[in-house]
Amino acid sequence: MNELRLLLRDASLRLSHAGVGSPDTDAIALLAHAWSTDVAEVRRAEVLGRVPDGVVLQRFSALIDERATRVPLQHLTGRAAFRHLELAVGPGVFVPRPETEILVDLVAPTLRSIAAPVVVDLCAGSGALALAVKDEHPSAAVYAAELSPDACAWAQANRDRLGLDVRIRCEDALTAFPELEGQVDVVLSNPPYIPVGMVPIDPEVRDHDPQIALYGGSEDGLRIPLQVAERAAQLLRPGGLVVMEHASSQGDSLPARLSTQGLWDDVADHRDLTALPRAVSARRR
Ligand code: GLN
Repeated sequence: MNELRLLLRDASLRLSHAGVGSPDTDAIALLAHAWSTDVAEVRRAEVLGRVPDGVVLQRFSALIDERATRVPLQHLTGRAAFRHLELAVGPGVFVPRPETEILVDLVAPTLRSIAAPVVVDLCAGSGALALAVKDEHPSAAVYAAELSPDACAWAQANRDRLGLDVRIRCEDALTAFPELEGQVDVVLSNPPYIPVGMVPIDPEVRDHDPQIALYGGSEDGLRIPLQVAERAAQLLRPGGLVVMEHASSQGDSLPARLSTQGLWDDVADHRDLTALPRAVSARRR
């Protein structure tokens, strides 16, 4: 085994012992970051038997130390992939998750059927959903609201760096965009929904994602999601679509509660790529 492979294997073992879920992927991503290159280049270096210089090795070893204390990978690289975008993330903002990507697929047919759709992302965090929608549907007018000033600053910085024309307001989702009431075609949201008291096991989530992005404000976690749904109903035109992420345990309860709001038709639940219930959709009555 060559030197680079040994280096990666040792780092991966270290992460594995620290309880990191994807130690191989994280080790190579951190080496790429320390080396200021990408994972494909590290793979090539592995094949060619190239080894990074001492400065890079030191940087890599420090990153592995930090990751072993369960600092999120994305906080160390400063980046999170979402759809076709790379978002800047770090302390103060929720790290976008791959399971959230399906929300963009769920709204795509509706967006394609309207010439210049109006879209609102409530509880936007890093801006992942709003920015991905604008990236994939350039004719859409996209708006986003985020309550946390820290998270909102990340979203605005992402917007500016990616050059995507999205209006982002640092405001409460429950009152944002009064001028759009009754005119919106699509509302997307990944609201805080974790049941209060169900503290996540992973230190990356528990200790590093902002609390305000995680907890749904009640024992079943549905208080804030249901409030956001009510706001979505005020924003949407009749026939407009809401798509909202939820916990895998809420695939029956959230659709049932939405149905009792009396505001929605076609309430349907959707699974993510790991086949877990993950998002609800509904049409404004
Ligand atoms: N998806 C988050 C998690 O599982 C929960 C909070 C959210 O996405 N709204 O850690």
